[in-house]
Parts: sequence; C-alpha cells; structure tokens
Amino acid sequence: MQSLPKKYNFAEIERKWQQKWEEMGIYHFDWNDKARPAFSIDTPPPYPSGEFHMGNVLNWTYFDVVARYKRMRGYNVLFPQGWDCHGLSIEVQVEKEHKIRKRDVPPDQFRKWCEQLVEKYIAMMKEGILKLGCSVDWTTEYRTMDPDYWRRTQLSFILLHKKGYMYQGTHPVNWCPRCETAIADAEVDYERREGTLHYIRFPFEGSSEYLLIATSRPEFIPACVAVEVHPEDARFNKYIGKKIVVPVVNRVVTIIPDEAVDPSFGTGVVMICTYGDKEDVKTVIKHKLPVIRLLTENGRINKNGGKYTGLTINQTRKAIVQDLAAVGLLEKTEKPPQEVGVCDRCKSHVEILEVKQWFMKTRVLTEQVEKAADEVLWYPDYMKTRLIDWARSLDWDWVISRQRVFATPIPVWYCKNCGELILAEEEWVPIDPKLENPRIDKCPKCGSREFIPERDVFDTWMDSSITCAVHAGWPDREDWKRFFPADVHPSGIDIIRTWAYYLMVRHLALFNEKPYKSCLINGMVLGSDGRKMSKSLKNYVASPEVLNKYGSDATRQWAAAGGATGSDIPFRWPDVEYGRRFLVKLWNVSAFANKLLKDYAPSETAEFALQPLDKWVLSKAEKLTQKVTEAMENCQFNIAAEEIRNFTWHVLCDCYVEAVKDRLYRPEIHGEAERAAAQHTLYEVLYRVLQLLSPITPHLTEEIYQAMYADYKGYRSLQLSPWPEFEQALVDEEAERRGDLIIAVIAEVRREKAEKRMPLNTQVKKLTVYAGDRETAEIIREGEGDITGTCKVASLEVPAEKGSGREIAQYPEVHFVAEY
Ligand SMILES: [Zn+2]
Ligand SMILES: [Zn+2]
Repeated sequence: MQSLPKKYNFAEIERKWQQKWEEMGIYHFDWNDKARPAFSIDTPPPYPSGEFHMGNVLNWTYFDVVARYKRMRGYNVLFPQGWDCHGLSIEVQVEKEHKIRKRDVPPDQFRKWCEQLVEKYIAMMKEGILKLGCSVDWTTEYRTMDPDYWRRTQLSFILLHKKGYMYQGTHPVNWCPRCETAIADAEVDYERREGTLHYIRFPFEGSSEYLLIATSRPEFIPACVAVEVHPEDARFNKYIGKKIVVPVVNRVVTIIPDEAVDPSFGTGVVMICTYGDKEDVKTVIKHKLPVIRLLTENGRINKNGGKYTGLTINQTRKAIVQDLAAVGLLEKTEKPPQEVGVCDRCKSHVEILEVKQWFMKTRVLTEQVEKAADEVLWYPDYMKTRLIDWARSLDWDWVISRQRVFATPIPVWYCKNCGELILAEEEWVPIDPKLENPRIDKCPKCGSREFIPERDVFDTWMDSSITCAVHAGWPDREDWKRFFPADVHPSGIDIIRTWAYYLMVRHLALFNEKPYKSCLINGMVLGSDGRKMSKSLKNYVASPEVLNKYGSDATRQWAAAGGATGSDIPFRWPDVEYGRRFLVKLWNVSAFANKLLKDYAPSETAEFALQPLDKWVLSKAEKLTQKVTEAMENCQFNIAAEEIRNFTWHVLCDCYVEAVKDRLYRPEIHGEAERAAAQHTLYEVLYRVLQLLSPITPHLTEEIYQAMYADYKGYRSLQLSPWPEFEQALVDEEAERRGDLIIAVIAEVRREKAEKRMPLNTQVKKLTVYAGDRETAEIIREGEGDITGTCKVASLEVPAEKGSGREIAQYPEVHFVAEY
C-alpha cells in the first residue's frame, strides 16, 4: 500500500488522471468485441459556440456518469463525440466579425472563415469537456462540416428522396429577413414584447360607414386579401358577403365568415393578409384567397407595396400609420404586451414568405412517432408527452432547405433546358453540385448537356438528426445495426422538439426503426436568482471559473446532486463548495485508513473476528449498494450522490471510524484479532464507497484506489473494476439493530461531554448503563470494547434493570450515569 499525502491538490490529480486514462485507453470502444454487450450513447454533437457553459457541464456530467457506470457494469461503452458545425449562428458571427454580408465575398472565402471560427470554438469547448473529465472515446471524433460527414447527410437525403419523403414546394415558410433564409418551426422562439395595437377604420364600399379592425401589423395592409368575422357574431354577421375597402391601397375585398375568429379579441373583425401570421396561411388555403406577396427576402416592401416599395418593414409601419391618421382612418392605438415569433439565432421578427423550398414529409409520420415514443424509456417519464405534443402540434412539414453558405449542399441539379431534377447517385456523395456537374452525359428527359446546380443548402438539423445511425457506424460498417438503436439519447428539455423529434422522424423514415431506446432529459441551469442562467441577466457563471476554483469532482457533484433528473437545476456556489468539502472529508478518512492499515494484509479468505459495529457498517454498506445501484439504473443521479455522501459522511466517518479508532490504535487493549477485523472492515467499506462514487467523482476515487487498492484488487483502474453486486445475504438486520444501539450509547456519552464542555477524551471513571432489560444489556456488553475505547471509560457496568440518569436518544428505556 502506498502512502497518501496529508493534503491533496485536486488540479494536479485531475489533470494527471485525465492524461493517464487517455494513455491507458480505457474509454476506447472495441468495435469487434462480441463478448461484452455494447452500450451506445448518442452524445449530441454540440453547436460550437466557443463556450462550454454550465448547461453543458450538466449535460456532459449526466452522460459521463452513465458511461462510467455502464463500463463498470461490464458494458463495452460507445461514448462518441462530434461537433455540429454548420448553421446560421456561425455565419452571423462571421458576418459581424468581418463586417460583411455573406454575398459580399466569394462563397469559398466565406466558408473558410466559418471553418476557422468553428475550429477555434471547438478547441475551447473541447478543453471544457476534457477538464470535466468526460470519458469520451476521442477516436470517434467527427465534424459535420467535413465532406466525409456531408456524405452521410447527403446519402440519407438521397435515400429519403427515393422513398418519397423529400419534395419541393412553394409554401409559406418561416423566414428570417435578417438571416435571409427559411427557418423551421423549431427555430422560432417566442418572446414577449410590447406591441402597438392600431384600431383602423375599413369603410364599406360606397358608404361612409366602416368596420373597426385592430391590428399590430398595419404594414401588411397592402397585402390584405379579405376581412373576416365569426359567423355567429350578431354584431357583424349581417355584413358577410359585403364589400369593404382596404385603406391606403383602396382595394375592395369581401367580408367572409370563419369560425376561427375570436369575437372577444380586438374588435372581433380581422383582416387577412398574405402573410401576417400562421393563421392567415390557414385562412388563405381554406378560402382559396389570392396571395399578394409583399416582402422581399431581405425584409423590404416589394413592388406590390405601391408607394411604400423599397422601405423596410419598420419604415412601412410608420409611414402607413401616419397616412392612416392623415385621412382620419386611425381611431386609436393601444400598447398591449404580445408574443412575437423571433429567429432563434438573431432574434429578428420572423416573417412568413411563400418561396420554393425543399421539405421532408414529417407529418405523415406523426402516428409512428407517437408509437415509438411510447416504446422509448424516458427519464423522467413525463417528458414523453413533450415529444408527442410537439409532433401533433406541427402545421407544416419540415422545411429542410436554407439559403445560406456554411452548410451541407443539397446534392441536386436541374436540367437547364427542361428543368428535370437530377438527384445525385448514392456513390457520388460527398458532392457539391455548385462545383461539380452530375456524372451523366445528358439530361435523361431532353438530352440537354447543361445543368444548373441547386444553390440551397440543408438545415443544420439535417446533419445532426442522423447521429444514432452515424455513431453506430452507418453506412460504412456492415454490422452497424449491432449498435442501433442507441441505448440512450441524452437531451436538454429545450431541445426535445428539435433533437429528439428530428432524430425520431429521420430514423423512422430511413430505417423504419426508432433511433434510441431511452431518452435522458436534463433541465436548464438556473442562475442564483432562480431565472434561467443567461449572460444578459447578469446571473451568469462561466464554467472555467467553477472548474478552476473547485475542480471537476466538486463541480460534477453539483451537476449530479443539484436536483431530480429533468428538473431545472440552480447553480449555487455553496453546492460546489459542499462538494469540495465532501472530497476533503473523503480524502481525510482515506488518509486515516491508509495510516492505520500499513500493517494490514488484505485477504478475502481469512476469517475475521468481526465485532458488532463491523457487522453493522458492512450491512449498511450493502444496503447503500442496493440504493445507489437502483438510482443509477433509473438515472436518478441526485439520489445516488446523496446516498453515498450521507453514508460516507455520517455512517462511515462520524460513527464507524470514530467508534473503532481506539481499537485500531490500541491492539494491546482490544486484541490483535479485533483490530484486524476493524482494518478489514474499514478497507472494504471504503473500497465500496470509492466504487459507488467513481462514476460521479472519478478523479479522487482513482487516486485513492491506486494508492491503497490497485495492488491487491488488481484492476488497472477503478473505472475498470466491476460494479459491486448487491447481495441480499450480506444484509444483516439484526447486526444493524444491535450496532444502532451501541452507536447510540457512544453518541450520547460524547454529547454529554460536549454539553459539559469537557474534551472528548476526558476519562470516565465509571459508566453505568441501565439497559432496562436483559437483551439490551447483552447487546451493550457486546460493544464494550468500542464503547469504553471511544468514550475513554475505565469501568463499564451494564445492569439489566431500569435506572435513572441521562436518557439515550431513540432509546427511552436506556439511561446512563457517567462519573468523571
Ligand atoms: Zn435570423
Ligand atoms: Zn432536360
């Protein structure tokens, strides 16, 4: 047994083991191992933001705990790590950094800048993952921006196109005028903003009478195609079918009935514009209304806007409101709070535009999604409905094309002559149609030899929603289905509607199989003020600050113990400090054991003269094993962490170690065999604690293991030791009952000394414990050695009869008198 130093330096220990584990290759997934069962984690490839924030710390701790636990359970664990590189956010930052718009530079140059920024960000985030001590198999690292990954995204598109899931259509889509691209429903955030509700008079044709319409978007008046009222609204239904004049543009439209109108909202009369919001889209389809497109792709008014052509949306709103007021058609304005849809990357107001886009048929899969969601194990269970509700709520198919540069190209061309669509063959990918022609001589339809490339690119979720198959080795490994579906897909509660959902529809469509067997959900990290942690709220704590100050093992305890899985978890410095104090406690008890076990030769066969308190703590350690194993199996990391910390702190340190110290120090009084029994017990119980803790605090437990256990237990790393199996036979209720009483006697005598302000080592000349009955007396006498040793009792008497004196807590029949 090697010696443990008195104090430990966590930064040094953590760095050391992170390097050594890497050198030892213990995280390496063995693709060819058929003996051990595989366990695959669908690590979500993060979006490189340059910051491994506390939310990431929470996620990665969760799945690293799972990975380490499963390895100890004997699984061949696949813990891959990729990077979801593409996307608007990177483009927006490059545009800001270089003070350009994407169109100002050649696409190659723009892409290069994006790649450089992504690499810089990946390096920063990787440092965070390494510092947290995550057991990632880095040989699996991938980047979705690499052509080798494009190949997979493009291949999946080709296969889905052949299966009929992909189509082009001119449909209204969510459009960000700042980013100049279509975006999916899932990329629309909703924010509460103060809006202005304008009450506008719409005159009847050839009359001075009017209807009053309240709208927050008067700039859409030039695109008004109808006015709508509820058919049963007695105030207005007499006007149904009548003509009304759209102010400013003086177009005449018809008043139509629709049950979707809420008579209590605004004035009960609604203008239908193409398109002010999603409701307008539904109405236009339902009533076959004409579409007047008003906006350009960069959010200006097009020629249909008459005198407002060329203005921005905001300028148009101002101008129209002024014009309405000038002719007396603006009755009043109000400023109610309202919810607006904004682009989740740049926070611009999202518009609805009708443009030609690529779509994936996702709504046809809703029933299958529900069925699969039912088959998946959700941690916690109630998260399932989030996925199902989202799938059911979708009005539109998934728009998968984007009008951007930094993304995977859509592998499609069009015949210049006849417009025929040429889909890339499966063997052609990866391919960028903008740089290469299709590998055919001529258009199969008209024979033309000229082709136009598809310039649109894929939504970044097209890259990241095939990870369950990609991690398993699809399409290159023949046996990829051995590792599919993924055993666990970890996801934040906020991305169930994107990640969990898109994975589900993509894999169902591609392989007719659900992508993951279980879904582990983490909540959001809240600031100390209880609101979601965010830089703009000044409640933000950067993870390097936490990791540098307290180290990984303390920080991981915060993540694991901070709250129930799936619930939001507040970040509180005292929680991390508590984690740190616990580690110091664990270190100190290990250093103590290390010192007193110098002459101990571990043995599994030797018979030990176990004393009541030895049996007591061994039984409790067995029950702890059961509780922690159960919690780990159910991904209840907070329960596991609390159980182990409570046991270590209170049962092992406060009670057991205190009670057997004297036995360990003074064999001449207690006997060599009794001392060896305490050594054995301490050694094995501490080992059990280290094992149960090791998924949560891998570094410190490894350091202690290597010094005290590696030689005897024989595993290269604690991480490679088999998880302790709970054995019912080792639970000894009777020993626990007896030990509890002995511990209570010791605790009460110590309490009395403390209350009398005497040092704990004050000699008790005579201790008389009135047991109250014969059996109790017998139990206390069994613990005589540890009681007299710990309480420094010169003479112990345990009469079986009742007596007076100080009552022992929890044992109202038992009293004692101590003579000092
Ligand atoms: Zn945007
Ligand atoms: Zn053609």
